[in-house]
Amino acid sequence: MSLSNSRDRALRERAEAVIPNGMYGHQSVRTLPDNYPQFFAKAKGARLWDADGNEYLDFMCGYGPNLLGYAHPTVDAAAARQQQLGDAMTGPAPVMVELAEKFVSMVGHADWAIFCKNGTDATTMAMMAARAYAKKRKILVAKGAYHGSAPWCTPRPTGTVPEDRAHSITYIYNDVSSLEAAVIAAGDDLAGIFASPFKHDAFVDQQMPDAAYAKRAREICDERDALLIVDDVRAGFRIARDCSWSLVGVEPDLSCWGKAIANGYPISALLGSNKARAAASRLYVTGSYWFAAVAMAASLATLNEIQNTDYLERTQVLATRLREGIAKSAQSHGFGIRQSGPAQMPLILFDDDKDFRIGYGWASEMLKRGVYVHPWHNMFMCAALTDADIDQALDAAEGAFKAMKTSRASLKPHPALLAMMASRA
Ligand code: PMP
Repeated sequence: MSLSNSRDRALRERAEAVIPNGMYGHQSVRTLPDNYPQFFAKAKGARLWDADGNEYLDFMCGYGPNLLGYAHPTVDAAAARQQQLGDAMTGPAPVMVELAEKFVSMVGHADWAIFCKNGTDATTMAMMAARAYAKKRKILVAKGAYHGSAPWCTPRPTGTVPEDRAHSITYIYNDVSSLEAAVIAAGDDLAGIFASPFKHDAFVDQQMPDAAYAKRAREICDERDALLIVDDVRAGFRIARDCSWSLVGVEPDLSCWGKAIANGYPISALLGSNKARAAASRLYVTGSYWFAAVAMAASLATLNEIQNTDYLERTQVLATRLREGIAKSAQSHGFGIRQSGPAQMPLILFDDDKDFRIGYGWASEMLKRGVYVHPWHNMFMCAALTDADIDQALDAAEGAFKAMKTSRASLKPHPALLAMMASRA
């Protein structure tokens, strides 16, 4: 299938003139295969339509916000009802309290919630809350983990100064001795330990958390009176209906949420236990839109769906079918691939593909067949997927592997990707 892209091309040209670099952040497709569209016109269920009207089965889900399906009728109806009443008002709507109560009832470790807009708001507040609690400075973060785009955590150091990270110490995810070494390096200045729910860094195989590592992080925080922070912005509610570390039996003091919690409406949250409440109460944290009620109503409706439907199990079953089918197809065409992480947040990497040229070739072939996959970032599956969608994706995968057998020898690395990897902190 050859896709037309004249509208996308024209929009990109106009964007070059009025948006720095034409696009910024993770929404820029400069580092994706060349046939990937930059602009989308609409989305419904598990599908996307680009600005030229090409339709895709979408395995990125907006990089996470789409949990139940784009334009979910129940969530959208709740948002529309609140829109009629008021959104960004002089103060919050009653739904704010309902939403905080709902989070506290669903997330085991949580006794309170602060709502904000982006994941970075929540992770930055978590860092501040840990420092306010411990009255200490050092924050431990896993090397390569993403916690947002603020100066203390951005993966690209342009525009930051070394002092922004002067009190961050890195450790290796799942490696207890490296964690302990970082604790020693923190001396008597440890404020908190950040952990992703599982290792979901870009470009490398994902790893589920070792219970021993998670438990040791908890113990260290208890011994040192520091706070344990789980950054559930990306994985929240995609692997559990509670904090993701409930699966390894470890409760953090703070957890950060965003993306899926309102099925695409803009809201994020910092949740905390009573231990961290007084410290959180002393922070000055706010934002003009942090009180907006529409996203809160959408979040409450999303949490109801999370609680009352089998969205998670259905997604897991279909995602597992997809994973098994892709593995079989790759093998039958002689490609070595590794599929890591939970099936509903899969990452597919090719063996012997250091510069990702095979992955790019495959992703590009999938796109031609109407399936939007990502060559180096974990993907996301939503609950709107059907068996017919998985059939379509597996047909596309079969066709893509087949096409790759002839094109493999002529694949080239992607220059913008190589430049981007070289510029990371
Ligand atoms: N933490 C994690 C684990 C994330 O995946 C992200 C976003 N990709 C963030 C924090 C930051 O969220 P946001 O982009 O909404 O600021």
